[in-house]
Amino acid sequence: MINNGRCAISENMKELSIYIHIPFCIRKCLYCDFLSFPTGGGHTDAMREYADCLCREIRCSAPFFNKYQVLSIFLGGGTPTLLPPGTIASLLAVLRESFHIAEDAEITVEMNPETAAPDKLREYITAGINRLSIGLQSTDDAELERIGRIHDYRTFLRAYELAREAGFRNINVDLMAALPGQDTASYRRTLERVAALAPEHISAYSLMLEEGTPLYEQRERFAFPGEDEDREMYALTKAFLQSRGYRRYEISNYAHPGYECRHNQVYWQRGNYVGFGLGASSMTDNVRWRVPATPEAYRRYVDSLPEPPASSQPPEPLELPEAPESAEASPSQGTFPLSDAGAAEALQPHVLTAEEQMEEYMFLGLRLMRGVDVPAFGRQFGRSVEQVYGGVIDTLCTQGLLERAQDRLRLTDRGIDISNYVMAQFLLA
Ligand code: SF4
Repeated sequence: MINNGRCAISENMKELSIYIHIPFCIRKCLYCDFLSFPTGGGHTDAMREYADCLCREIRCSAPFFNKYQVLSIFLGGGTPTLLPPGTIASLLAVLRESFHIAEDAEITVEMNPETAAPDKLREYITAGINRLSIGLQSTDDAELERIGRIHDYRTFLRAYELAREAGFRNINVDLMAALPGQDTASYRRTLERVAALAPEHISAYSLMLEEGTPLYEQRERFAFPGEDEDREMYALTKAFLQSRGYRRYEISNYAHPGYECRHNQVYWQRGNYVGFGLGASSMTDNVRWRVPATPEAYRRYVDSLPEPPASSQPPEPLELPEAPESAEASPSQGTFPLSDAGAAEALQPHVLTAEEQMEEYMFLGLRLMRGVDVPAFGRQFGRSVEQVYGGVIDTLCTQGLLERAQDRLRLTDRGIDISNYVMAQFLLA
């Protein structure tokens, strides 16, 4: 047994990842359907109040996770770096007081380049944050403007420089392909400029045009890359980044060796994670639940949590508090603060059926380039992957979409191109 601050860590603890949702942005990007509210640069008091709520939620929930050791923490949103100075350091202090956090835990904060400042970045380093994820999307200012980003390329460059100066040695840069008005040549320029900076990690997703977003409503105004060009950009991402020393380890994620995002791999491998904050999802030991997604319902939920016991040893059994009636949370556009109209309450804890677990095991695991571990499937579910999916696997292998590699099953390049189709074949219902 080793000691981590006030919490003792034993070797047989289960592993846990923590996600903290910060639902504030200066302004909504035109394509965004994440749960975040535009603050216009104000609402500092509301952000402080939200952080207080988060601290209570963390403190009161922690005893339920006393048997877990935290290997990664991700502060996402939204724009966590918009929080007032000192807030993120306080949140991390509360997490350290409340959870068993591994000494070498990966701790990431997402940053919009517009919010970068030397003091803030130093605060994060001092607080133990060791990974920064910067949302750039494109180095072309016209493309950034068309999708409603608040920063330009120059602002990103300054933010990146400040992050390095502050001491960040593990930086991710988020990019997007298939943007309105983008072509393969401009996308290549973005890849070249970003790779020249040599961040340790690059995420490159295609823009998803989500119904209800301003960009969707205005879609007729813009020329979007066609399907062939989108595919060309996709292929370019892999070829170009690999030529610059990045290894693709997930369909849309590339890293220098050893810098693969530990936190996201937990999701793809169906590890245990708990989410704190508005609308955050959790899954531990095949039980899934979700925190309410409107401010009023969230406050009620946090108020309903039992005070943590004075001792660091909580009583058994670990049982989550009753959640209010189920209703689908709607992380859509909104002005801040949202009222409770049509309140989205917490989802009732849902115990995943064996079928649901097997489906997830396959379609999440296949996102990883190393594929799914076939013997581990058998150990976990008591049935071999061939017994459950034999016919599907044979067909997909014959079609050249899936391949067997020793003890693993993985997507081929063609399979990655139409991964949604391949994943859908693993649904059991
Ligand atoms: S895309 Fe990111 S930065 Fe833009 S509004 Fe949504 S959460 Fe905020």
